[in-house]
Order: sequence, then structure tokens, then C-alpha cells
Amino acid sequence: MANQQTIANPVSVSGVGLHTGVRVNLRLCPAPANSGVVFRRTDLEGFVIEAQARNVARVSYATSLMKKGVLISTTEHLLSALAGLEVDNTIVEIDNLELPILDGSARPFVELITKAGIRRQRAQRNFVKILKPVEVADGMKRIIVYPADSFRVTYRISFPHPVIGAQSIDFCSGSSGYATEIAPARTFGFLEELEMLRKNGLIRGGSLENAVVLDRTGVINPEGLRFPDEFCRHKLLDLIGDFSLLGRPLLGHVVAERAGHAMHAQLVARLLRERQSWRLVTDPQLDAKPVSEPVLAASEAQ
Ligand SMILES: [Zn+2]
Repeated sequence: MANQQTIANPVSVSGVGLHTGVRVNLRLCPAPANSGVVFRRTDLEGFVIEAQARNVARVSYATSLMKKGVLISTTEHLLSALAGLEVDNTIVEIDNLELPILDGSARPFVELITKAGIRRQRAQRNFVKILKPVEVADGMKRIIVYPADSFRVTYRISFPHPVIGAQSIDFCSGSSGYATEIAPARTFGFLEELEMLRKNGLIRGGSLENAVVLDRTGVINPEGLRFPDEFCRHKLLDLIGDFSLLGRPLLGHVVAERAGHAMHAQLVARLLRERQSWRLVTDPQLDAKPVSEPVLAASEAQ
């Protein structure tokens, strides 16, 4: 059995948004059990957007949430840090439309959550337990989730670039490796693409301070890479954030090949549609008792 968790104290951080370049103040606050991760736009009278798959707006360069025309952009690195540290419930206040990119990884968010402290709550955690494989494929790209008693991800990427090539990483939850092995991996981009994005005003806040940038032969950041396979680790980081939009931790083995935000979101949406492929349980072990269906219906109807 596992208990839900929230943060112990409010904590704040400020920075600029990668895509908009606007300054934003972010504050994490403790939240009651069963509330999940909830964003509040304090610049819009506290307008609330739940971090749930039904509110996913656009998933090309970033995972954004939208509700009634109100947008919250680039949520995936904070969501990854919260999921990676197993924080179930928190209120995220922001006073602009995009989360701060900080150093382009989830490490500053891990440090923030660690500073806040993590508090165990009385309520038990509910898990989405996969019962049969579910797949989304598109040519060479694919993502499948298989039944498993814990959350595990295998991520494989392949880029025809001398520094990247073929990379593969395997992550198991509960191994406590998230904070040191996954969270520090930064987002990355190719110089030619970045120039196009910059011209189109899509990365107003982008710099070598918040992304790994590659030219044709290598990494142009003077400090180099944090890990030789930082690229693959970052894709895994993004997947952990995107999958948290299920609203509950997953018990399943996700295998992703050359996937990205759009495909992560497609698989999450498919899982939520295909109710027969999973059930809610409070105990990760095989003989777990399913949570009664009304609990799910009530919490989803909010
Ligand atoms: Zn990312």
C-alpha cells in the first residue's frame, strides 16, 4: 500500500518562459488528498486548470494545458519532477501563461520540491494498473504500455547525428534514481531548427542557458553534456511528465521508440478511452482489489 503525498510548505521560483520569453513567478502550495496537481492562473483571478489529459491543448514543442480558452504552456518538466518525486497533490500558482524553463531540465523543480519537503497524507494512492498491452504507432515511431507491477519505462531514440546516434535507457520507479539520473537532463535542439523557430517567434526565451544545442558535428554549449546520453534521458523525463496527465501513477512498462510529446499524449488519451485495458488499484501487487468504479466516476466528474 502507498499513501498519497503533497509538499510540506509553499515554495516559489521565477524565470522566463521558453516559447514566450515572458517573466513568470511560480509558487507550489500543499493540497488536500485526492486533489491531484492543479494549476491556478493568479493573473486571471485564480482560474483553475487541472493537470489532466482532458485539458491537454497542444503537444508539438511542449505540453500545454487549456480550459475555456485559458492556456498554461510548457508544463511537462514540472509535472515530471512532481511525478518523479511521487508528489500526488499540489497547487501550482503562476502569474503568466507559460512555466519558467529555468535550465531546460527538471532539476531546478526537484530542488524546489526538496526545499519544500514532502508530506505523507492519510489517503491511499490509487494506481492505473495496465491489464493488457496498448499501442500507438506511426511508421518508425511507436509507444506501447505492457502490464507490470511497477512503473517502468524503456526509451529508445535514434538521430543521424554524430553525438546522438542510437541511445536507450531503462528507468524503474522506486529506484530513487529520478532526481540524480533523469531530472538533470536538459531539453535539446538542432541549430538549424532553432533558427527557424526563433524567426517564427516560437522560442523567445531560448538560449544556451536552457537547452543543449547541436550543430552538424557537435554540441555548441561550452559546458558540454551532463550525460553522454542526455538526449535519451530528457525524452524519458518528458514522458514521465506527460504520463502524469493520466491523473494517477501508472503500473505498467512503457516502451517508447522515437516518440515525443504528441505520441505520449496519444497513448494517454487512448488509455483513458480504452477502459477495459486497465483498472484502478490501491495495491501495486497482482492480487490487488480493484477500487470500486464509482470512486473513479466521481473523481473524474469534478
Ligand atoms: Zn522536455
